[in-house]
Amino acid sequence: MEDIRFVCTKCGQKLKCTPDNAGQKIECPACKKTVKIPNPYPPTAKLPRVHPDPQS
Ligand SMILES: [Zn+2]
Repeated sequence: MEDIRFVCTKCGQKLKCTPDNAGQKIECPACKKTVKIPNPYPPTAKLPRVHPDPQS
């Protein structure tokens, strides 16, 4: 899987991490503040379920 790339919300430092750490909090190496790693696959990004019903 590709690394998650995101920006520190405190200092703007570009960061990346493995998807395994998505949703966790890390210490920014630049500003030492705690930042949350965004989830790259939010539930709203899922494709809408196409579910035709031929029996109706
Ligand atoms: Zn930072």
